[in-house]
Amino acid sequence: MSLTARERESQARYYRAHREEKLERSRRYREAHREERREQGKRHYALNREEKLERCRQYREAHLDEQRERVRVGSSARHARRFHAPGAGLSYEQWLEILHAALGLCAYCGERGRLGIDHIVPLSKGGEHDASNVAATCLRCNRSKKDRDLLMWMAQRMRPRDVVRG
Ligand SMILES: [Zn+2]
Repeated sequence: MSLTARERESQARYYRAHREEKLERSRRYREAHREERREQGKRHYALNREEKLERCRQYREAHLDEQRERVRVGSSARHARRFHAPGAGLSYEQWLEILHAALGLCAYCGERGRLGIDHIVPLSKGGEHDASNVAATCLRCNRSKKDRDLLMWMAQRMRPRDVVRG
């Protein structure tokens, strides 16, 4: 059974009208929810940002030590260049070995703490920038010793009552 031209025309009108109505409804809906969507977008962005920052923080946490130690090795190399220090240099891997061997204890005072690179024979006194001339020491010892000879410094930091007089 086929539709008459009139019937087809009426059906087409219905669909057109219906479509217009649907479009209008969705337009009104979009209008009404524009603010809301904007807010959602902002929230989504903020959430994304938080997530990114969190991932970044986790990465830093996991790699902070490595990065810090690499920076340490790098600045000791700069220090060595400034003094035109002899020696084969100190690689990151060598420093890690020295650091691991120290078990977290300062090579000079034995205190537990964050350990830095100290040149046993100071570079300013002709010491080599070489793994064999490097000790892992605490910041306090490092600052206190500065460029003094190790034995002289150790003798100087001993209090009189520690010195055994014969
Ligand atoms: Zn120390």
